[in-house]
Amino acid sequence: MQRFSPVLLALLVAGCGGSATEATQTFRACDGAPSFVEPNPAYAWTPNAIRLVSEELAPGVFAIYDRDAAEHGPAGIPLATSGGFVVGEDGVLMVESMINRQLFCQAVALVQAETDRPIRYVVNTSSHGDHTFGNVFLPDDVEVVQHEQTADYIAANFDEDVAFMEANFGADQGIDEIEPVAADIRVSDDGWSVDLGGVTVEARHYGFAQTPGDLFVYVPDAKVLWTGNAFVTEEPGIPWLLAGNGAAAEVTLTAVQASLPSDAIVVPGHGRPLAPAAMDFSIGYLRAMIAGVQTAVDDGLDLEATVAAVDLPDYQGYRLWDWIHKQVNVPNTYAELNQ
Ligand SMILES: [Zn+2]
Repeated sequence: MQRFSPVLLALLVAGCGGSATEATQTFRACDGAPSFVEPNPAYAWTPNAIRLVSEELAPGVFAIYDRDAAEHGPAGIPLATSGGFVVGEDGVLMVESMINRQLFCQAVALVQAETDRPIRYVVNTSSHGDHTFGNVFLPDDVEVVQHEQTADYIAANFDEDVAFMEANFGADQGIDEIEPVAADIRVSDDGWSVDLGGVTVEARHYGFAQTPGDLFVYVPDAKVLWTGNAFVTEEPGIPWLLAGNGAAAEVTLTAVQASLPSDAIVVPGHGRPLAPAAMDFSIGYLRAMIAGVQTAVDDGLDLEATVAAVDLPDYQGYRLWDWIHKQVNVPNTYAELNQ
């Protein structure tokens, strides 16, 4: 009977150990089977009705987005949060962790369908729960990357964001099990980058876009940019100025677009991958809306008359127009300009 020497045995064991580290990363949060529901028309979109798909935009660079994006986006129907991932020789960087367990686990499954390499980083483009809540399901060795203002905002306003998300996406979508997660890497206005092994990923800050702490994730070699909510979706979708400051949003979106090569691919916060020129509609809307509100203020109109006056027929078509334009964007802009 053949026997292995102790040295050979040690080498064999070490070899087994080496291959074990390449085994698929374990996500205990995703042990259960998904359970899909019908869309609830009361919500902008229903998290547990969403099916995500991935698309390889460049070698090792993938977008993740709502399966219905090509049909619903141009029709003005709101879409689930988009994200994606970048695969390097040393591991994976994921963009966004999604709003709840089921969407987080769908995103992780899409990563694991393409690679056995472990997820090492998750970048959140903003503080909003539909981009960050899934962080709670990450193993401890995954580093959460956020702009420092996003990290501070989540720490101070977590309960408020949970309430907003439950009001708009349902109290029956598992949002009640989310807990706040502190960022491991806090990004300053100067940005951050990481070499994943053969591919570099940047997290860029261009100034206020939809929140004070927006990050844009860019892969220079692939010319792929994730925008988060700052550029929410294609025409006829319009920006959600939940924190106001449309003037700064217009300046930032214009700068983002100008910084990109024309053949870049832009993954919006809620939609399918697009050309940079697709940002024209959001930028044009912001300019027209701000100019319209300024004229109304100059004419002495009150808020109600301003909402009626700034109807922007060229920019209508988004299913959430009556909420986002009339109840959020125009009132916030009116309050800022009527001082
Ligand atoms: Zn969002």
